[in-house]
Amino acid sequence: MEKTLVILKPSSIQRGLIGQVISRFESKGLRLAGIKMMQLDDDILSEHYAHLNKRPFFQRVKNSMMSCPVIIQCWEGIDAAKVVRALIGKTNGREADAGTIRGDFSMSSQENIVHASDSADSAKIELKRFFKEGELFDYKLLALPNLYAEDEI
Ligand code: ADP
Repeated sequence: MEKTLVILKPSSIQRGLIGQVISRFESKGLRLAGIKMMQLDDDILSEHYAHLNKRPFFQRVKNSMMSCPVIIQCWEGIDAAKVVRALIGKTNGREADAGTIRGDFSMSSQENIVHASDSADSAKIELKRFFKEGELFDYKLLALPNLYAEDEI
C-alpha cells in the first residue's frame, strides 16, 4: 500500500494540538507505519523546501520549522498521499475548507500546523529524507477487513 510523509510543525506542537491532529489520520483509517520526534536543521530544510528557495519567506519558514522539535510520521493506505492532502486542506489556513486540519486549526499560510507530501512520488523521496532504515514498521492492521472491501486491497 502507498505510504506518505506527515510532519507536525512547531505550530501544532506549541499550541497543544498533537493529539487532535494525529487522531484525524488515525480516525480516517490510515495505518501509522512510523513516528518520531526530530530537531530539524537548516540543511535538511533547505533540501525539503528547495522549491521555495527564491521566495521571500524561504528563510522565515525554515526558522519557524527549526524553532522546536517536530513530529515526523509515515501513514499508509490506498492513495495515502492524495487522501492525506485532502485531510490537511489548502496551504493558507484562512482559505482551507472547514473540516480540514488547516481549515479547523490555522489562521496562517506559514503557521499551518502540518506538512504532507504532495504526491506518491514526492512521498517516496521525503520518506527517505526523514526516516532511516528500520524506522518504518510493516505490521498488519487487524481492522483491515473493516476498512476496505476485499477487492480494494
Ligand atoms: P504545502 O505545505 O501546502 O505543500 P508549499 O509547498 O507551497 O505548500 O509551501 C511549503 C510551506 O511554506 C507551507 O506549508 C507554509 O508553511 C510555507 N508557505 C507557503 N506559502 C507561504 C507564504 N505565502 N507565506 C509564508 N509561508 C508560506
